[in-house]
Amino acid sequence: MPRPRKKRRREVKRVPRSDAMLPEFDRRACPEGLVTRRQLREEGLSPGGHGPVAVLRCKACTFLPDQACIHPTRAWLYNVDLARPKRTPTLAQEHSLDRAMAARQTCPQCRRRYYFCLPLKTLGSCLECHDGTPADPSTYIAPPAKHLLAA
Ligand SMILES: [Zn+2]
Ligand SMILES: [Zn+2]
Repeated sequence: MPRPRKKRRREVKRVPRSDAMLPEFDRRACPEGLVTRRQLREEGLSPGGHGPVAVLRCKACTFLPDQACIHPTRAWLYNVDLARPKRTPTLAQEHSLDRAMAARQTCPQCRRRYYFCLPLKTLGSCLECHDGTPADPSTYIAPPAKHLLAA
C-alpha cells in the first residue's frame, strides 16, 4: 500500500503592504525623480549622505499589489534632488599625493626618482648608491625629477 504523500507546502512569507515601510513602486509606475543606485552612478552622482526614500518592487510582485516586496531583487530608490556629484580628486590633491610619492621614490644621494618606493628606512638610498648594484635606467627618472601625476 502506498504511503500517503506528505503534504508539504512551500512556505511563502507574505508581508502586507503598510505605511510603516518605505513606499513601493512597480517597475513601470516609478515616479520621476526616483532612481536606483546604478542610475545615480551613471549620471556621476552619489546619494549624498541620504538613504533610500522608496523601494522598487521586484518583477514578481507586480502581480501582488497588496503584498510588500521583501525580495532580494527589489532595489532601493534614491531621490535625485538630494543626490550630489561624485567626488573626484582635484589637481591640488593630486599634486600633494605626487609630492608624498616623490619623497618615497627619490634617492637622497643621486636624486634619481624611481618608479617604485625605495628602502629609505633601511638603506637610506637606492641600491646603486648603497652597494653599487647598477639600476636599470628604465626604472628611474634622472634628476631633476619631473612630477608624475596619478591620472
Ligand atoms: Zn518582490
Ligand atoms: Zn641613489
